Amino acid sequence: MTSNHFASRFEPNPNAKTDGQREAILDNPGFGNHFTDHMFLAEWTPGTGWADARVVPYGPLMLDPATAVLHYAQEIFEGLKAYVHEDGSIWSFRPEANAERMQRSAHRLALPELPTDWFLGSIRDLVTADRAWAPSGGEKSLYLRPFMYASEVFLGVRPSQHVTYAVIASPAGAYFPGGVEAVSIWLSSEYSRAGTGGTGAAKCGGNYAASLLPQQEAAQHGCAQVAFLDSTEHKWVEELGGMNLFFVHSDGSIVTPELSGSILEGVTRDSILQIARDLGYDVIERRVSIDEWRDGTADGSITEVFACGTAAVVTPISSLKWDGGEAVSGDGEAGKITTDIRSALVDIQYGRAADRHGWLHQIVPA
Ligand SMILES: *Cc1c(COP(=O)(O)O)cnc(C)c1O
Repeated sequence: MTSNHFASRFEPNPNAKTDGQREAILDNPGFGNHFTDHMFLAEWTPGTGWADARVVPYGPLMLDPATAVLHYAQEIFEGLKAYVHEDGSIWSFRPEANAERMQRSAHRLALPELPTDWFLGSIRDLVTADRAWAPSGGEKSLYLRPFMYASEVFLGVRPSQHVTYAVIASPAGAYFPGGVEAVSIWLSSEYSRAGTGGTGAAKCGGNYAASLLPQQEAAQHGCAQVAFLDSTEHKWVEELGGMNLFFVHSDGSIVTPELSGSILEGVTRDSILQIARDLGYDVIERRVSIDEWRDGTADGSITEVFACGTAAVVTPISSLKWDGGEAVSGDGEAGKITTDIRSALVDIQYGRAADRHGWLHQIVPA
């Protein structure tokens, strides 16, 4: 791997937001609406390897209309958060896991792998430059979006010979400002998110493009998200469009669909597997059929269902709906075990509970 030692140059934004403008945004940031004063960029070519790491003023990217990504979707991304602790220090959560997943995604999309020290360095240098943008209080965070795309100007179909890596940062409000709320999920009977041998295990924009039409169908049925089944048998539960699934059983076991090759391996999923074990639950990764979900919630052997991912952390699922039916989990409210697991994870992320597994990574000291 071409790991030139990492160092970035810094070009400050002469038109940075004023303290007042920034504070107004941080009071009520929402999600994905506002961006910090800077962005991180680096370039790759076969000859130079990764080069030209820089933190520069945030702004539009100039793309030639023949830029490869606009035609063939050779693009991957990541999502993680920076958390402000009580003492003002800023931390990220398992960023090495995101770096390694981005390398796996890059491999699948025939993009160059970004070395872990570059990934961690890009996060550190951008968050350090824009540390005033990391909101504190409640469950606010600074959402970080690393991404990589085919930036070669060429319409031939082959892996791009110029690739750009970028990181942007966006202050994020609490996902559930009024307290954690359970949501309904739509079961897509017609569409799959990913197929055998496809890109389901890679975090690529193309997977999201394929999920938007079923997502629209979900919204039309009053559901927040879509549950996808495997593409071969339409029988095995995979995940939501951007979150992994967990099932709490009445015998105290906690089950999540095993990684099938078309499920995205969430960092939150992996962390919850460990936290549930730490809390004394029997944790099982195995196949879960759609009949087990329907019948289990009906006969009470499944007591709670929840989804997980970086943005919302843990979202309780009140019911699964499909054409002509509905399966309500428990009493349709956020369950106790779901809530306990969510709190345990959030407490580690915000430095309120011991970090037993060395998951926190300091970016900016107190
Ligand atoms: C990003 C993502 C997840 C969640 O991953 P986290 O690392 O927990 O944020 C789950 N499913 C899909 C399809 C994703 O893209």
